[in-house]
Amino acid sequence: MYPWVYEAKYGLDHAWSELFVEKPHRTPAEEAALPEAERLDIMAQRNSFPELPLINYTTQYGLGCFEGLKAFPQADGSVKIFRPDENGKRMKRSMEGLRMPGFPVDMFVAGVTETVRRNLEAGFNVAYDPKWETDSFVNASAVYIRPFSYAEPGIGLGLSSYPWVIVGMTPVGSYFDPDASTAAITTDKLRATPGGTGWIKCNANYVTPILVKRWANDQGYMEAIFLDMNQKYIEEGSSCNIFFRMTDGTLVTPELGDTILPGINRASVLTLARDMGVKTEERKVAMDEVMANCVECFVTGTAAGVSYIESITHKGTKATFGNGSMGELSRELLVTLKGIQYGSRPDTHGWMFAV
Ligand SMILES: *Cc1c(COP(=O)(O)O)cnc(C)c1O
Repeated sequence: MYPWVYEAKYGLDHAWSELFVEKPHRTPAEEAALPEAERLDIMAQRNSFPELPLINYTTQYGLGCFEGLKAFPQADGSVKIFRPDENGKRMKRSMEGLRMPGFPVDMFVAGVTETVRRNLEAGFNVAYDPKWETDSFVNASAVYIRPFSYAEPGIGLGLSSYPWVIVGMTPVGSYFDPDASTAAITTDKLRATPGGTGWIKCNANYVTPILVKRWANDQGYMEAIFLDMNQKYIEEGSSCNIFFRMTDGTLVTPELGDTILPGINRASVLTLARDMGVKTEERKVAMDEVMANCVECFVTGTAAGVSYIESITHKGTKATFGNGSMGELSRELLVTLKGIQYGSRPDTHGWMFAV
């Protein structure tokens, strides 16, 4: 975890106040050289926030929401953030969906940007490595930014009227092991139910995906695929959206609704595919259709990027897509999106925000 953290608080005066907090640190090189116990001690101090209540609606009931976005090192030494305005808009919608005051989008973008800048200035950065380009950025690193809401003290079932918004960040590598199997398996457990909070990046939504993903991993699968209540239509991966390229060349993804998280990478990939002249559809996608007609499959998300899925096993039957390696369109979308993020492709849609 990087030392600079952003803290905004909704006050009794119904206005947001903000604070940039510098947690204990040395230089990254000094910290790396410390004996393990001392290093862990600094990390523990860095992740300790005595001003925040331990017992509240977020820690007790999962009444809170979060975001995940990344800042990408560029070849010229600068850093750029991918679509923070979209994360800010979703954070506001999520908070309002949980009946909290929504955090203003302009404060979100400015707060995130300034916190990244302060961490860079303190020497906490990810250096651009030219070799990433030759492996299609599959192993590239970035700064992962985690904004989240946090409720005021409370133990009854209550709404949060005076939340905090906290932003922390940490360096990350690739989410999926590039050398591991990319097979997926469907689950009959439900990630989200109609009328629930599936459309919100709500803390309470992630327990079932964590359990199911571990169940899938334990059997050698990289990812678990969630279906709808009737076990007919595909919804999502454990924390990523899903795409299918059908035999007729169309790129299809499940349509948004109250059980699907509106991913920013999902929206970006749809835009990039349309730019490439690929026909796209957002609609219900039946598991039977995928088993019969799909030639490429991939999942998208801030953590996953564009990660291809070699096969899906459903009720004991395995469908392998193409020849089981990354498909042509999946690769082109991966390389285009990563290229825009790391600055090797033109940012034609104005998605990258300078720090
Ligand atoms: C965060 C998330 C995604 C991906 O959203 P991005 O904005 O692309 O990172 C997809 N599904 C779920 C359930 C998520 O929580």
